[in-house]
Amino acid sequence: MPRPISATVHLSALHHNLKRVRDRVSCTNSKIWSVVKANAYGHGLAHVWRYLEKTDGFALLDLNDAVLLREQGWQKPILLLEGFFKTEDLTLIDHYNLTTVVHSDWQLAALENAKLKKPVEVYLKLNSGMNRLGFPCEEAHKIWQRAKQIANIKHITLMSHFANAAHNGNIDNEYRFIQQNCQSIPADCSSLANSAVILWHPSVYTSPINNLLNNNLSHFCHWVRPGIMLYGASPNGQVQTIKDLGLRPAMSLHSELLAVQTLKAGDTVGYGSHYRANEPQRIGIVACGYADGYPRNAPTGTPILVEGVLTKTLGAVSMDMLAVDLTLCPHAQVGSIVELWGNHLPIDNVAMAAGTISYELMCALSARVPVSFIADGE
Ligand SMILES: *Cc1c(COP(=O)(O)O)cnc(C)c1O
Repeated sequence: MPRPISATVHLSALHHNLKRVRDRVSCTNSKIWSVVKANAYGHGLAHVWRYLEKTDGFALLDLNDAVLLREQGWQKPILLLEGFFKTEDLTLIDHYNLTTVVHSDWQLAALENAKLKKPVEVYLKLNSGMNRLGFPCEEAHKIWQRAKQIANIKHITLMSHFANAAHNGNIDNEYRFIQQNCQSIPADCSSLANSAVILWHPSVYTSPINNLLNNNLSHFCHWVRPGIMLYGASPNGQVQTIKDLGLRPAMSLHSELLAVQTLKAGDTVGYGSHYRANEPQRIGIVACGYADGYPRNAPTGTPILVEGVLTKTLGAVSMDMLAVDLTLCPHAQVGSIVELWGNHLPIDNVAMAAGTISYELMCALSARVPVSFIADGE
């Protein structure tokens, strides 16, 4: 028998969550890039993309993933969120008809000099304060003018990514800054909204980026870029968001108890003896550790389900095992089912307890964990 740990991807949840995003943006002239970078947030791009095929396009980072989607039959748009990494990537962009972010001067120069079969669709990335990728907002007009002159560029969309849409919730200044710098640009398309913006800042995708000059919404198109929502988790870790929106978790992680121990008062658990029992206590040992992608720094008290009962982890997470309190689960025994996260235990709650975000837990699911893909809701 293999180790009892396994992950399940609920394919219909992806389809459902995309529909919820669609409902939410449907009152606007918005199209949807479903973000499937990092192997579809750890869910397995090759297996899951068909359950998101009602999307208008897929956004990702790696050319190999774009080629995979094309070879598996996806014909609609694909956006390279970090653009191209080397000039020679333009050959594949041309061949596979990919849309590319352009965030740097060298990329514009490469486009100026390239010999392509046909012009490419471009997203001009503006830096609105994240200070990772993008042209300074103040140069938006100048960059637009330059890009407009480039014969290899077909259509230009203005794009930016907010640093604080999920965290302190205030992006007004950043957004105003973008608008001010874009007001003289005759763009008919923008893309500013990740999940947090879709959820909490709808004005960003319901009005044109160059608002002050061009109020004609009917000709304006916004491409929203949901990622984490599609997988049924919240950008700010608050599980209420998911409930309010009716999003469904796309991934669950299960294992089993390998052993049961009865501690005496004063006994300790795991490396470093971080947990010490004050009284006699039954504990279970779960076949799941940090080498499976469970966060090593999850402290004592991280929520976990044993036979459907909510309990907590105890002591340090090891490479292949972790310990759980069985006080509330007297019937639990070797072979009892453990849910690390999933339909009955939100991944957001586990991430929160471990001081991280659901994104990291999903992406960190390790290659040694077998994944099954199921098409129904449960
Ligand atoms: C990852 C990413 C997204 C999706 O973000 P979520 O918070 O998962 O919705 C959107 N835009 C860009 C540029 C990204 O890199």
